[in-house]
Amino acid sequence: VVEYTEDYFRRSMDSSVSKLRTFINWIRKERSLNNSIVQKTLETNLRRIYYLALIGIPSHIAHVIMFWITDPSSSEEAVWRTGIIVVHSIHLLVSIAIAIIISIIRKQKHLSKKAVYIQYAFIVSLSAMAISLVTIDQYVTTNITPFLVLCLGLAVIFLLRPSSTLIVFGVVLTAYLLLIGTVQKEPAILLTNRVNGITFVVFGMYLSLILWNTTRKNLFQEEEIKRQQKELEEKNAELQRLAFLDTLTGLYNRRKWYEFAGEESLSICRYSTSGSVVLMDIDHFKKINDDYGHPIGDKLLKEIAGLLRKNLRAVDKPCRWGGEEFIVLLPNTSVEEARKVAEKLRTMIERTEFSIDGESIRVKASFGIASIRCEENSLDRAYERVDRALYTAKQSGRNIVVSET
Ligand code: GH3
Ligand code: MG
Ligand code: MG
Repeated sequence: VVEYTEDYFRRSMDSSVSKLRTFINWIRKERSLNNSIVQKTLETNLRRIYYLALIGIPSHIAHVIMFWITDPSSSEEAVWRTGIIVVHSIHLLVSIAIAIIISIIRKQKHLSKKAVYIQYAFIVSLSAMAISLVTIDQYVTTNITPFLVLCLGLAVIFLLRPSSTLIVFGVVLTAYLLLIGTVQKEPAILLTNRVNGITFVVFGMYLSLILWNTTRKNLFQEEEIKRQQKELEEKNAELQRLAFLDTLTGLYNRRKWYEFAGEESLSICRYSTSGSVVLMDIDHFKKINDDYGHPIGDKLLKEIAGLLRKNLRAVDKPCRWGGEEFIVLLPNTSVEEARKVAEKLRTMIERTEFSIDGESIRVKASFGIASIRCEENSLDRAYERVDRALYTAKQSGRNIVVSET
């Protein structure tokens, strides 16, 4: 036997109060919801209202015609028929107007405050219609089907935040309880209809809250997935960039360069075209570091890389070979043409006065040139020849371009 002590009641009271508090906090939280989720539910509601208004049009017309063409058998029935015709006609006009407005504003990218008014205008019109119908129906019948349909419709069709759900159903219930009493004068029927109405509202409200909760969770997850996908794509792009670019200069690294050069050497064999490589080494770069320090040396390398990029064609592939050495792949370029390119780069570097951290620095560079030939280990062979040419350039006094022999 459980003894219901005062303490037991206090504890169960406390627990109910804390549950109520959780519920109120939930409603508050949903009010301050992420804007994009609110936008999405609004879009969904407008779409649903649009189609509901459209399919409602023939239904209203059918009601009006059916109640018009047959004759009433009593004066009460005549009042009832007129009422129904009037209510359906009004909602027909509202539906047409709202469908037109929605078809216009749906084309806008961002739904404005107007969309919210349209949504509530339709909800008000729909509720007014159902409550009027159920009230007028009391002239001839005791049933309250239109009100049941309204409660289910409000719950299932519209995605409303909990706070809006409470307000909408609260207003709807108040209007229903008051209006039904104006026509239904039979106390027992009035009482049962009012009690049933309350049941429908509670049921509809509960359904609406459940649907909101699941929909909003789904939308939130959708957003989360999209956000993570975007993050992943950005990270992937960054990883790719790091995988084939030199971090200091932003030029291609050796690995990527070999990929390009490999493709070029294949196409040279297949299409009998020509391709060249230019190897460049900055003259006396150690002295730059000694005179200005390593950080300025780094910045100078960056500037030189920029200069290379600016003075090469988009198809040419400049790469930081390592240290202060750069290699450029010139597709579809003969050794003679490559020589001109290298000469242009050489004079460009020689003439440029680099200004770094307040220091004005001049450098020169030596160049070797070789062609990529269709032969076994073509890239290694080409590198051997271009390296030898560069060595000759250094031996011959630097700041010159030397082609392979
Ligand atoms: P030369 O090529 O004309 O014979 O003389 P050099 O002084 O440029 O020759 P070397 O190749 O012997 O030295 C290259 C120097 O470049 C060594 C190092 O101090 C410097 N260096 C290499 N990599 C970097 C780098 O990433 N940053 C900086 N600041 N200096 C570098
Ligand atoms: Mg070097
Ligand atoms: Mg050098």
